[in-house]
Amino acid sequence: MPHLPRVPDSKPAYTLGKGTASPLGRTHQLSSNESPYGPLPSVTEAIQAAGLEANRYPEPGCVRLTEALSRRHGVPYDHVALGPGSATVTQQLLNAICEPGDEVIYPWRSFDAYPMLADVARAVSVRVPLMGDDHDLDGMLTAITPSTRLVIVCNPNNPTGTVTRRAELTAFLDDVPENVLVVLDEAYREYAQGADFPDGVELYRDRPNVAVLRTFSKAYGLAGLRVGYLIGHPEVASAVCGTMVPYAVSAIAQAGALASLAAEDELMARVDEVVKERTRVRETLISWGWAVPDAEANFLWLRLGERSRAFGELCARAEVAVRAFDGEGVRVTIGEPAANDAFLTVAATVDTWS
Ligand code: PMP
Repeated sequence: MPHLPRVPDSKPAYTLGKGTASPLGRTHQLSSNESPYGPLPSVTEAIQAAGLEANRYPEPGCVRLTEALSRRHGVPYDHVALGPGSATVTQQLLNAICEPGDEVIYPWRSFDAYPMLADVARAVSVRVPLMGDDHDLDGMLTAITPSTRLVIVCNPNNPTGTVTRRAELTAFLDDVPENVLVVLDEAYREYAQGADFPDGVELYRDRPNVAVLRTFSKAYGLAGLRVGYLIGHPEVASAVCGTMVPYAVSAIAQAGALASLAAEDELMARVDEVVKERTRVRETLISWGWAVPDAEANFLWLRLGERSRAFGELCARAEVAVRAFDGEGVRVTIGEPAANDAFLTVAATVDTWS
């Protein structure tokens, strides 16, 4: 056997294919925060057209998509860096800026790829526990040391769905030393419709040590195509481009993302439907006595503690796949109404879990 010292043991279990798919294919997929909607006809058409040239490598620098994103966000071209999904963009970033032993601060619980991505970059994970369901921004500030290279703010946070508001975030950014990069992971930002939700792209404009991560996997409904991007200072963006594997974003993915950008209005109308369903499911649960944090993403967090695994199994038996975090809680994605009803049918069978 070869020596394999760099394979992290922090790989999230769901990425190993555990407990997500039903052998019969009937399961309501409420475990991965995907969009319940298939691609729009215009997007399918673009994907099919790109597929006809699958014998060719994609355009090397993702030029058209980068241009479209730079126009969409009103930022210069060299402030945008693409990758095959925003998790991979995070990986590219960590690989680019972390020396072995450098510290990466993130809230916990949060997106469960962060530990693995930090491990792969040989960085040291510094997990700052949530305060209730929210980021403990003071705790994150206190955790900064001379070895800190990067702080991640997940907004809205996965899996709690809670939001760090504009005033708290800007106060926090004012206190972070300029040599520490703050990464605002906004994978779910389209679902956060409150007036005080901060727009990371606005915040980064005045702050060279702020970078924003966005994805086509959630509101844009292209999780299977793998496209994400970073907006940040050109040196940060160029570092991310520099660590991308050549041709990592396929031509089909680029075509799908471009067509989705062109159809944003239709896609945002779908987001509104999900937000309505989120309100319906949350209010129904609350009326039954459940404690459900105010979520602004496409999922809800049920802090069931020791009962999490049992509830996850109960859902699975009813062909509803949710994500149970043993001993902590259960995250349920908001899907199409029928899937949400199937989930509520299971929830209705248990005593109030307040
Ligand atoms: N950030 C957060 C907070 C997420 O929850 C996810 C996906 N679950 C991602 C990033 C990664 O998304 P993708 O790699 O599909 O763009």
